[in-house]
Amino acid sequence: MKLLHASVCLISLLLVLPSIFAASSSKDFDFFYFVQQWPGSYCDTQKSCCYPTSGKPAADFGIHGLWPNYKDGTYPSNCDASKPFDSSTISDLISSMKRSWPTLACPSGSGEAFWEHEWEKHGTCSESVINQHEYFQTSLKLKQQTNLLGALTKAGINPDGNSYSLESIRDSIKESTGFTPWIECNRDGSGNSQLYQVYLCVDRSASGLIECPIFPRGKCGTEIEFPSF
Ligand code: 5GP
Ligand code: 5GP
Repeated sequence: MKLLHASVCLISLLLVLPSIFAASSSKDFDFFYFVQQWPGSYCDTQKSCCYPTSGKPAADFGIHGLWPNYKDGTYPSNCDASKPFDSSTISDLISSMKRSWPTLACPSGSGEAFWEHEWEKHGTCSESVINQHEYFQTSLKLKQQTNLLGALTKAGINPDGNSYSLESIRDSIKESTGFTPWIECNRDGSGNSQLYQVYLCVDRSASGLIECPIFPRGKCGTEIEFPSF
């Protein structure tokens, strides 16, 4: 009788275990958006910008963030207050971050406040997959790997203040990276629609680009400006 009772218990445990795991993993995120910003379009708006304390950044796309997301379009944020940003864990990356992840918000800063915000809001939600060092290192690697400015200039699309078709911008990035980007626009000081941010998707283990399971919302014109910086 005891043996029968024990086996019933064991069998019931085996039956509920998978659903316990399914419940916890379904709360975890599905993929990342890797978001890069064009500095010219951050700076020529009505709000304007401030260069970082280390000086004017290169005329290149800069990292905005690596954002865990659910495939229904919603996303987790500020997941772990017990893991604050700690620059000492990424001291080997700081000089690359100043180059590739510059802050343009006012007042001028070194970048730490921007990186801290991105880590605390988004990075802490990816801790099941990557730690703080990996979060920043992966982002730096993705920027290099995607080389957005190279992809665009190769197709004759230059940051010269001219307008280009949204389709040609999307196509040139797809041609070069192999994956369809999402283009986000904002408006310059005179109200023209311009190329502001480029979203690419990364698989949930942060090992490489994937086609996006869902695109963010928003709309650009069919022709958009690519301002200089
Ligand atoms: P905005 O409202 O300016 O588009 O976005 C403000 C901030 O909300 C972004 O910088 C980012 O931190 C977060 N955010 C906006 N859209 C998304 C999204 O689709 N996925 C994730 N993970 N974060 C987003
Ligand atoms: P998100 O939009 O990712 O939630 O938040 C961006 C935050 O980082 C804002 O509080 C913004 O002021 C700050 N920030 C600092 N530097 C930059 C920058 O260069 N670009 C953007 N988009 N936000 C920045």
